[in-house]
Amino acid sequence: MVSHEVPSGKRVFDWTIPREWNIRDAYVKNSKGERVVDFGKSNLHVLNYSIPIRKTVSLAALKEHLYSLPDYPDWIPYKTSYYKDNWGFCLSHNQLMRLEEGEYEVFIDSTLENGHLTYGEYSLRGQQTEEILVSCHACHPSLCNDNLSGVGLATFLAIFLSSIRRRYSYRFLFLPGTIGAITWLCLNEGKTSNIKHGLVITGVGDPGKITYKKSRLGNEEIDRAAAHVLRHSGEDFKIIDFSPYGYDERQYCSPGFNLPVGRLSRTRGGEYPEYHTSADNLDFVQSKFLGDSFEKTLAIIDILESNRTYVNLNAKCEPQMSKRGLDSESKATHLAMQWVLNFSDGSHSLLDIADRSNLRFDLIVSAAEMLLRKGLLREL
Ligand SMILES: [Zn+2]
Repeated sequence: MVSHEVPSGKRVFDWTIPREWNIRDAYVKNSKGERVVDFGKSNLHVLNYSIPIRKTVSLAALKEHLYSLPDYPDWIPYKTSYYKDNWGFCLSHNQLMRLEEGEYEVFIDSTLENGHLTYGEYSLRGQQTEEILVSCHACHPSLCNDNLSGVGLATFLAIFLSSIRRRYSYRFLFLPGTIGAITWLCLNEGKTSNIKHGLVITGVGDPGKITYKKSRLGNEEIDRAAAHVLRHSGEDFKIIDFSPYGYDERQYCSPGFNLPVGRLSRTRGGEYPEYHTSADNLDFVQSKFLGDSFEKTLAIIDILESNRTYVNLNAKCEPQMSKRGLDSESKATHLAMQWVLNFSDGSHSLLDIADRSNLRFDLIVSAAEMLLRKGLLREL
């Protein structure tokens, strides 16, 4: 893994890398000197990117800088102020209700100075220079589904893929959302032509059904591979069209790049109450859902790795299967072989054939392998 540091002030397309925010401590103290809001207890308590402050304020003045969730009175909201100088505290609504009239000392020991934007990049070489891009955001403190689940899945995917033979090369990006993807694209524009398929992975550990958001192009191999896996999973799923709203697919699929990058999530960001709150935690994310998302991601990648286009070398009428010892196969395999033979005309890939026949991709692949061994196919 390479950690890249890009300095504050650098222009990246229409954006500028912001100053770097660091924080050591923050609190709100009541007149008895008690910390009624304490950054040490949860790093969500401070409005992210708060400017440093130390002053005494009335409760009314303090309340203008407090954020809570009346509908979920135990939860602490996650709030940011990236591009506007501000300070504030996030707290549970119960905490807010307990604040009595009086003077409060507010203290935020932060720095907002020139520094760097940091992102991680991990590359795996395959037989081909063409790449599969896997991108996740790593910028929300303490949030488990909307942040860490994507990082976790991508990390385990990288570990797994590093141990197997790969047709494609892989590039894993661990970036601050939006500005990180914009920065990577700006600094690596020349490499984007190698990206054959891509996935943004985020929000993959909640109990909701698996959701695939198509690339802007809409009918790329990644879109069809993901749809195939979900359709044959036997479980409920959702496939949604591209929209310019969401996570970093917005940047990869901006019209100037228009990369074949889709997004894998479970419940969409913003559509579950735990989103951007302290309740997006290890109780909300469960290993069985994270594991399921991992398996489905791997199944999508397996299709991309195995998808080939063949040409039938015995295209004038069906070949005689019994002559080649191919008649003893199961009915399903026999059917799959007939589909592969008929549509291996150089313009249908195995995934096309799987979709057209409504047979599972792995069955089509094993049929193609048998036919290849008997000399009935050649790769295009
Ligand atoms: Zn978020």
